Amino acid sequence: MTAPLFDSHMHTPLCGHATGTPREYAQAALDSGLAGICFTDHMPMPAWYDAPWRMRLDQLAQYVEDVRAVQAEFAGRLDVRLGLEADFHPGTERFVEEVLGAHPWDYVIGSIHYIGAWGFDNPEFIAEYDSRDLAGLYRDYYALAEGAAKSGLFDSIGHLDLPKKFGHRDPDGYAALHALDVIAERGLALDFNTAGWRKPVAEAYPAPDLTRAAAERGIPFVLGSDAHRPEEVGHRFTDAIKQIHDVGGRIVTYQGRVRHG
Ligand SMILES: [Zn+2]
Ligand SMILES: [Zn+2]
Repeated sequence: MTAPLFDSHMHTPLCGHATGTPREYAQAALDSGLAGICFTDHMPMPAWYDAPWRMRLDQLAQYVEDVRAVQAEFAGRLDVRLGLEADFHPGTERFVEEVLGAHPWDYVIGSIHYIGAWGFDNPEFIAEYDSRDLAGLYRDYYALAEGAAKSGLFDSIGHLDLPKKFGHRDPDGYAALHALDVIAERGLALDFNTAGWRKPVAEAYPAPDLTRAAAERGIPFVLGSDAHRPEEVGHRFTDAIKQIHDVGGRIVTYQGRVRHG
């Protein structure tokens, strides 16, 4: 038995690094047999934070309007939902809280893209990995993931083991398990993110062993392609479902920030 499938992680050109109109993402989802999608574009942040990679605050209303238009156009054929990929970066919580209060979001992913001032998933700054102790890097990263879970701002944690993106794998694993304990305790889900299969690491986020550890803790998964182009919608969902079901994991979606499934 297969539940209706949703792709709950995708972007729009408003973030400055995605192509294709929201309507093209929806059409791609419909063409590949999905039941629904949730747009989760990179949310506005304070002006000093990562500005070139996200919509500006004065574009937020446009984003909501664009998604609403697609929602209306595809009504009865595809369930189109309104979400955000939020960033967790200590000190910005109040700003994030205000943006999250401004519209009725269906689903909010909490992602960590920075350790301090280092955008560690940006290929431009990949050399920095050579100057870092990997175990320490992952400890710092997972401490941030715990902070995100404890903030109460988010429904899920985005691409859990993201620092592996270019192949720098966690040599230890302990910090990840501790973060999963906190994520379980706080009742969050994990963004099961198939973009990792398109990156040098060639592995989804989270890795199979972390998928198992999450499932053992009762943490559910939200499927997401992290599409930045319409062709990426629903990317490798068959493999994702297998990886999750192989370890007894559950797949859920969010609507009005309430978990379903
Ligand atoms: Zn992006
Ligand atoms: Zn992300």
